[in-house]
Amino acid sequence: MLNDQPLPDLGPLLEARGVRKAFGANEVLKGVDLVVAPTELVFLIGPSGSGKSTLLRCCNRLEEPTGGSIVIDGVDLLSPHTNVNLMRRQVGMVFQSFNLYPHLTALGNVTLALRKVVGKSRAEADALALAQLDRVGLAEKAGAYPSELSGGQQQRVAIARALALEPKIILMDEPTSALDPELVGSVLAVVRDLRDAGMTMVIASHEMRFARDAADRVLFLDQGLVVEEGTAEAIFAKPQQERTQRFLREVR
Ligand code: ADP
Ligand code: MG
Repeated sequence: MLNDQPLPDLGPLLEARGVRKAFGANEVLKGVDLVVAPTELVFLIGPSGSGKSTLLRCCNRLEEPTGGSIVIDGVDLLSPHTNVNLMRRQVGMVFQSFNLYPHLTALGNVTLALRKVVGKSRAEADALALAQLDRVGLAEKAGAYPSELSGGQQQRVAIARALALEPKIILMDEPTSALDPELVGSVLAVVRDLRDAGMTMVIASHEMRFARDAADRVLFLDQGLVVEEGTAEAIFAKPQQERTQRFLREVR
């Protein structure tokens, strides 16, 4: 028998609409939409200063937007009734500069929020953290301090730390920009594994080849606006806007 019931529409996991952000008189986001479906990998590309970092930071309220709406898995992030700390656990963030605590081991960095924020016991937190360090290929480095790790390894610890909180979505801001070229691949391999496992991610990056290869969708930002958006194929092979074409020519 034919089933004529429509499939349930699960809706976007992240739905940011008309996001504005001004620093004083400088409006750096001028009404940006960023809508991300579950399991999607979206890349933000664009020149330095175009607003990529600010947009990501608004999506977990590291910055307060001055306008627009941001809904994550049906919850209004900007509502005064929303528990921002709970939301932040659901929106993992990975920074260019890793932001690990230098006085804590890899394991200590991954367990910290599990213990202090989630309230896990030491044994539980250690087990969860080890599983995530294993996932990024660093189980044997659990006892190492950040200074004993390469940049690529430090960034993978930062990814494990985000994963340990079981986020619904992970935002990455230039995750490979601080790395020596030979270390970039190890981090991108982890991103690819996460994508293949169905993790929803938004990544601001200058890794054009990786974006072209791995992204489901690409947004090109310039001067606080999404100038063009489409599949990786559409943006990289047939960009429609002159500004997108110029940017891609310059970064190639
Ligand atoms: P991108 O990540 O695309 O390089 P950013 O979001 O970092 O762009 O920056 C966009 C603009 O916002 C830049 O002009 C930057 O100087 C400005 N900006 C970012 N953060 C702040 C801040 N905390 N205070 C004032 N201006 C800021
Ligand atoms: Mg940035």
